[in-house]
Amino acid sequence: NSFAALGLAEPLLRALDAANYTTPTPIQSKSIPALLEGRDMMGLAQTGTGKTAAFALPILQRLSASRHGAGPKGVRALILAPTRELALQIEESFRTYGANLRFRTAVVFGGVSQLPQVKALSDGVDILVATPGRLLDLIQQRKVRLDKVEVLVLDEADRMLDMGFSRDVLKIVDETPLDRQSLLFSATMPKTIKKLGDEILDNPVHVEV
Ligand code: AMP
Repeated sequence: NSFAALGLAEPLLRALDAANYTTPTPIQSKSIPALLEGRDMMGLAQTGTGKTAAFALPILQRLSASRHGAGPKGVRALILAPTRELALQIEESFRTYGANLRFRTAVVFGGVSQLPQVKALSDGVDILVATPGRLLDLIQQRKVRLDKVEVLVLDEADRMLDMGFSRDVLKIVDETPLDRQSLLFSATMPKTIKKLGDEILDNPVHVEV
């Protein structure tokens, strides 16, 4: 029961060591092998279970397995979250776990000036964490493109729907390639979430903790 046994690569194992993570949490043990195989996932999990690392580690490993060459790049992993606080935490987690990899991360959310966010996006971003409203705004202004997205995560999807982001989320998902890997995490599993899962996930693994 170790991170190495789950199939994670050396740069990630070193970052986990530095963060003093010794043992995977249950959701990490259940999710990481399937996600490394490229499977879609429906995860029923609360915050505090270690779900961020459960999706961030396989994403970092997938992106490092096939680096883009020179030339214009686009967002390769997109994580949607309901609130600014959660979005900031998720980006921080990617930085921690990706400390030995050279990915550019950015976070965008509403209620603040767009300018620094637009600047970050124009510099090039591999991993983007966003709240739906601001991201859709930026897409419509053509400040960001999602046609290179390889992995999509909807985190705390039930809260995003509760906050009225349902249409925005679907419009954003529509901008991403169909052959992406998709993950949906939710603390509850009402019909609306099952339906969203049916729309965006392809033969998902179900993980519950
Ligand atoms: P999350 O559920 O992703 O918000 O994570 C909850 C907290 O647990 C965060 O502070 C993480 O840094 C921490 N954490 C996640 N996975 C592990 C682990 N395997 N060992 C120790 N701490 C962890």
